[in-house]
Amino acid sequence: MDNNFLADILYPNIKTLPADIEARYPARNLQEGAKVTRFAPSPTGFLHIGNLYGAFTDERLAHTSGGVFYLRIEDTDAKRTVPNGIAIIIETLGKLGVKFDEGAVIDGDNGAYGPYRQSERAEIYQTYAKQLIREGKAYPCFCTEEELASIREQQESQKLTPGYYGEFAVWRDASLEQIQAKLAENAPFVLRFRSEGSIANKMKFRDEIKGEIDVTENDVDHVILKSDGIPTYHFAHAVDDHLMGTTHVIRDESWLSTLPFHIQLFKALGFKMPKYCHTAQVLKLDNGNKRKISKRKDPEAALTYYHSQGYPVAAVREYLMTLLNSNFEEWRLANPDAAIEDFKFTTKKMSVSGSLFDLDKLNDVSKNVISRMTANEVYDLTLAWAKENDADFASVLESDKDYAIRILSIGRGGKKPRKDIALWSEVKGYMSFFYDALFNREDSIPDKFNKEDICAVLANFKDTYNANADQSEWFNNVKAIAESNGFCPDMKAYKANPELYKGSVADVSMFLRIAVTGRMNSPDLYEVMQILGAERVLGRVAEIIG
Ligand code: GLU
Repeated sequence: MDNNFLADILYPNIKTLPADIEARYPARNLQEGAKVTRFAPSPTGFLHIGNLYGAFTDERLAHTSGGVFYLRIEDTDAKRTVPNGIAIIIETLGKLGVKFDEGAVIDGDNGAYGPYRQSERAEIYQTYAKQLIREGKAYPCFCTEEELASIREQQESQKLTPGYYGEFAVWRDASLEQIQAKLAENAPFVLRFRSEGSIANKMKFRDEIKGEIDVTENDVDHVILKSDGIPTYHFAHAVDDHLMGTTHVIRDESWLSTLPFHIQLFKALGFKMPKYCHTAQVLKLDNGNKRKISKRKDPEAALTYYHSQGYPVAAVREYLMTLLNSNFEEWRLANPDAAIEDFKFTTKKMSVSGSLFDLDKLNDVSKNVISRMTANEVYDLTLAWAKENDADFASVLESDKDYAIRILSIGRGGKKPRKDIALWSEVKGYMSFFYDALFNREDSIPDKFNKEDICAVLANFKDTYNANADQSEWFNNVKAIAESNGFCPDMKAYKANPELYKGSVADVSMFLRIAVTGRMNSPDLYEVMQILGAERVLGRVAEIIG
């Protein structure tokens, strides 16, 4: 067979040679040990928590080594491509603090190793494919869907591994005449890789996360170019990661099954292999059993969930780190105030078997992260979230910034800050009783207390409230009110003889809290009243007295 002739009749329009392409992609000029990583999603409009897990690994590996992290768009499957898919990827990851140095941007490319959309690289793939034909390493296959289906059926009935290999690879040794006859009929063809592998051969392979793994050679003649000349994932992966200078391929472990084919492709193309990091899947507990997080069943599988719920970026990053590196939590305990970037991220500490994602844990992390923020930070981030998700609340916040900051300052800044906010979407509920427009009475004073006693206590408070009193004067007054209404001002004394009293000073405080905030629980009542101001405080007390 004249392979040069075959290459020319199959891809007559391709005039470039691999050397021409290589010249367009010079080696990157980076410091020793710098890692080049890429995030390579299909622009389907949906990003999964597993994508973030991978992208974060990419980002950390590149940025802790002085390397480059770039975005490549795998849009070879037009059916899975949505119009604003790239914008969604860039925005969603950007909101979670994952930024690219290079690659596809919304209206084009940023970088010297593009084009970064696979749909714009057909000539490049075909150039390498044509070279493989010249070298006898690839051949056309004219099998129709029906013929392939019948091969599959035959294999099923004989309990054989499915695939285009051995005796089933019917076009592998076709003659030039057979091929030319099909071309003359304009019959569509795919280009297949001519595998020289055998499943009898096993080898060891080093994965950067999984360590040494056993792999079996591939004997299937997989498709490398589809009938429209567009590459399959496998072929595009080899060509792109070679040309773009990727040093570390971080991808989901589901790709492990096709790794033997990728090893063959790199070899056949004469490319140096990148290092591979196959990440474990993100799991969750469902009725006590671990299962893969599912796009269909779990809202938290979608990355947009974190932004719309109002998780702080810092909390998501922090939690993701605990999932990614098993020693992160320990490091964080020892370095509570250090920047997350100071942590020495490593693939060696990544899970091999699966990372268990736990929303409760994320919420705890988030409460911690928010508790360490200043009131100003909480204000700014809540406002930014509200502007996108709750315009009414945004205007409430903006109507009086100082007032909002005073509210958000309660319990903040000390050694033991309050940890009651996990999400920006919870701030409205947390602050609502400070605003007449948002105030509603959620709790009422328990029925076991006599209405007249309650009114007497509240009336007494109304007559004696002094907004200028300091905290201890204020509390002394609450105690005095308790005493003069038959409630014990001293908790110890009350506990010793509860039957002697209508209740205790704690009950009196609770009447006041519920009257003023409409809730059984609130931050420090003295501070709350100071912020609300005498008029609002007394007005709300009066409402209960009736
Ligand atoms: N487009 C592939 C995916 O979304 C990329 C896998 C890879 O990173 O190589 O699964």
